Amino acid sequence: MKNFSCISFSEKKVLLRVDFNVPLDQKQNIIDDERILAALPTIKKLISDRAKIIIMSHLGRPKGKDKSFSLKPVATRLSCLLKKNVLFCDDCIQEKNKLIINEMLGGDILLLENLRYYSEEKDGDISFARKLSEYGDVFINDAFGVSHRKHASVFTIASFFPKNKYCGYLLGNEINFLEKALIKPKRPLTAIIGGAKISSKIDVLTSLLDKVDNLIVGGGMAYTFARSMGGIVGKSLLEPEKTSLAKQIIKKAKRKNIKLLLPLDSVNAKEYKNNSNSYISDISNIDSNYMGLDIGPDTIKLFKNCIKNSNSIIWNGPMGVFEMENFSVGTKSIAEAVCEETKKGAFSVVGGGDSINAIKKFNLYNKVSYVSTGGGAMLSYLEGKELPGVSVLKSFSE
Ligand code: AMP
Repeated sequence: MKNFSCISFSEKKVLLRVDFNVPLDQKQNIIDDERILAALPTIKKLISDRAKIIIMSHLGRPKGKDKSFSLKPVATRLSCLLKKNVLFCDDCIQEKNKLIINEMLGGDILLLENLRYYSEEKDGDISFARKLSEYGDVFINDAFGVSHRKHASVFTIASFFPKNKYCGYLLGNEINFLEKALIKPKRPLTAIIGGAKISSKIDVLTSLLDKVDNLIVGGGMAYTFARSMGGIVGKSLLEPEKTSLAKQIIKKAKRKNIKLLLPLDSVNAKEYKNNSNSYISDISNIDSNYMGLDIGPDTIKLFKNCIKNSNSIIWNGPMGVFEMENFSVGTKSIAEAVCEETKKGAFSVVGGGDSINAIKKFNLYNKVSYVSTGGGAMLSYLEGKELPGVSVLKSFSE
């Protein structure tokens, strides 16, 4: 795969796919511009090369041309960050875009409106991809967050650039850091997987057992594991049809001699509310009217001890409902333990929207080695899958 850092794109029309899928409030104000900041190194390199930069992105899941998903606020923020004008066009495949691009000078930037206004984007449609490809001489993918998808602007489009396709700085970094964590990690390597449902992370749990020394499981999915071992979990999040898979994971860990750490105790609430009546119990003995919303103190001790003995740590998914103050202790304690080990020299990668929100909430964002910008893409990578948006950059290239 060609990295673009040593190449000059002077006067070239560069079609750059980024992930500007930023959260907006109801008045279309950007709540968090982390994803725009993450794309700046690639954009700045292209500006200094004096390339004509045509930026493509999606935002949210619009049904048709819904203005509340417009990328216009992103153009304004990008312009502020770069202290330069950013052109914006309100339809990503209108004919007039070519005229605008022809008028552009080296270093000018055009942001195309939301690609997902067209369902063809998600369908990976070839004629949609062809229309987009006609804007550029060169294609650069810097959108790690969607590189696990075969979407038109990520995957299909690359076939129109058999020789002129590159990986941007952000995408390159993401792959390097994940490889560092997974392919040649300093051992012991510990993965911490949490979040809501086991069904969305079953493949990653199974595949991690082939790579890690320790696997810590917390969050909502831990209750399905507890149930699979005969525990009574009350009204906790439970996927009964996944208990046999949970059993298989426990068996596989034993067979491979991998330390699988599951919660011992649980903080249980009567209602899904911060100030609900709550109590701590063994995870396998929860009152029928209560639901487990966080890991308990014995579990925190157990998990922290394992983290303390790790040299590489991968974390995806919170340990409890950290959005509610009274059920955030488990996630906060684990985040602090990961940061403490990082300070002592361990290598840590954190990914997944909610884990990132958690470390931001606890002011720990800068205290881990690397924060991955793409939750789903990171999980696909951890599952051992090739990311189509990355592998397509390798094919046909010189
Ligand atoms: P995921 O997208 O799978 O990483 O799930 C993240 C969500 O899991 C967060 O919004 C948490 O509030 C939620 N979560 C974590 N632990 C629990 C739990 N014990 N019960 C219900 N939801 C949980």
